[in-house]
Amino acid sequence: MFTKQMALNMRTVKSVYRADKVNMGGIIIDQPLPNNHLDRKDPFLLIHHWYNNMSGGRMQKELGVGPHPHRGFSPVTIIYKGALHHRDSLGNSSIVEAGGVQWMNAGKGITHSERPSKELAEQGGEFEVIQFWINTPAKHKMEAAKYYPLEKEDIPTVVLDDKGSEMHLIAGEYDAVSGPAKSQSDMLVANLFIKSDSEVRVQTKPDFHTIAYQLNGKTEINDKKIGDKTMVEFSNEGSELVIKSLEDSRILLLSGKPINEPINSYGPFVMNTTTEIMEAIRDAQMGKMGVLIEEFD
Ligand code: MN
Repeated sequence: MFTKQMALNMRTVKSVYRADKVNMGGIIIDQPLPNNHLDRKDPFLLIHHWYNNMSGGRMQKELGVGPHPHRGFSPVTIIYKGALHHRDSLGNSSIVEAGGVQWMNAGKGITHSERPSKELAEQGGEFEVIQFWINTPAKHKMEAAKYYPLEKEDIPTVVLDDKGSEMHLIAGEYDAVSGPAKSQSDMLVANLFIKSDSEVRVQTKPDFHTIAYQLNGKTEINDKKIGDKTMVEFSNEGSELVIKSLEDSRILLLSGKPINEPINSYGPFVMNTTTEIMEAIRDAQMGKMGVLIEEFD
């Protein structure tokens, strides 16, 4: 019985909940992770969804987040609308536009700033990004920091149906396609763009921790109704996601092999022990995570 067999393979939904609204230094964002329902999903630590229809007539230096350090994890930013300008203490000054990704392995330390592009600040327009944090295995935490800008053209597309539903593969392997990101543990990071009235099937590895955040749209995922700004946490039973859409929907799929190491985190640092956190705070104060002086023209 084909249907029964497929159903047996369906990954069990553990919980479904809506993102919290969070005020991040005056910027109102949606935060699906962490949340009352879910503290983290090893190796995924945090998800921030920031949307703003910018009015224009602003200076870039007034917007976004100014220089700050990171250590011990990977902050990854997906740009859905507009453009994001990353500057860092390695000397990178990089604007990535919609469809692209800024992937950073913070390693032992880097200082960066993250701001909507100058053009967007001045002329206005829609701006939408998701930043999520991936823990780094202990053995890689003190490696040199790396920043990888990925443009839309760098990110391969996997066709999911004949209606135009697509997966954009950022990291990991799917259907013999490889994502370009240099992740530090095994994972699948992908955007799913599901067309209205579609039914698509997406395979995940059973031993990978899996969550899906639906930015917008209306779907049923493994028979659970999912609305906008909604997080789906899966258990590790089954492997298949069956997604039926009632309208065009966008979903960020994060599926990764758990690292299973203790976590000690403080602000922008994610380490394993309290001592390492104290060292991180001291190293940042001493300028060991680099210095960034932004230049605005
Ligand atoms: Mn940052």
